[in-house]
Amino acid sequence: MNWQPVDCHAHSTWSDGALTIDQIVERAAALGVRPSVTDHVSRDVQRSIQSVDDVVRYLDALEAFDVLRGAEFCWHDALWRELPSNIVARFTHRVGSLHAVKLSNGQWVHAFSRKLPDGLTAAAYMEAHLATLKEFARQMPVDVLAHPTLVTLPYRTLGTDELWIEQHEEQMVDALFAAGIAFEISSRYPPHARLVRRAVERGVRISLGSDGHTAEQVADIRRPLALARSLGVPDDALYDPVRHGSRTGNPSLSCA
Ligand SMILES: [Zn+2]
Ligand SMILES: [Zn+2]
Repeated sequence: MNWQPVDCHAHSTWSDGALTIDQIVERAAALGVRPSVTDHVSRDVQRSIQSVDDVVRYLDALEAFDVLRGAEFCWHDALWRELPSNIVARFTHRVGSLHAVKLSNGQWVHAFSRKLPDGLTAAAYMEAHLATLKEFARQMPVDVLAHPTLVTLPYRTLGTDELWIEQHEEQMVDALFAAGIAFEISSRYPPHARLVRRAVERGVRISLGSDGHTAEQVADIRRPLALARSLGVPDDALYDPVRHGSRTGNPSLSCA
C-alpha cells in the first residue's frame, strides 16, 4: 500500500469531539489520511473519559473499527497513572499534554484559564513551562507530546519572540529526544518553524496531529505535513505507531 500520512491526534464524541468513530474513519479516508481516535482521558477535562472502566469501554468501541487507538492524557492529572499495563497495551499510541504548568511556588496555571496569577510574567511562565515539560518527559511513558507550543490563554496573543528563547527550545528538544517522545506538529496550535527545525535537527521524531474536533478539522493535516516536508523530514519517518512502535507495549505493533 502507498504511504499515507497518519493523523495521530483527533477527538470523537467519546470526549469533546463532534464526530463519532465511524465518521472520523470516513472523513480521514476521504482525505487520504490514516485515522486515529485520541480522546481525552483525564478528570480535568470537562467532556472526557474519566475512569479506568470507561477507558475499557472506549477501547472496546475502538477495537470494532479499523482505526489507530490512542488517547490524550493530561500530565497534571493522575488518571494515566492508574491504568494497568494490560489496558495500556491495548492502545496503539498515547499522546501526552501539558494542559497546565506548575509554577515554582507549586501553583498550577491551566492552559485554558483566562486569568493569570498575580505578578506572573511571561518569562517566569515560560521557565515553569519548560520545567514542567522536563518532568513530563522524564516520567510520562507517552509517544507524542501534543501541541508543544500551547501556552495559557492570556499569553497566546504574544508573538513567538516574546515567548520563546532559544535556550528553552534547546531544552525542550533535548528532553523529548532523551525520552523518545515525538514532537507533534499541530494543525490547531501550529508551532513556529524554528522550533520544529530544531527538533528535526536534534533527531526528535515528528508526529502530525489535526487535534480535530469537527468534520472540517479532523484528519486535515495538510499544513503540518507541508511544514515537515519543507524541513526535509522523509514521509516514512513521520510517526506511525504501526511502523515505529509505541511505548504502550502493544504486541501487534512491529517494533513494540
Ligand atoms: Zn490538548
Ligand atoms: Zn487534543
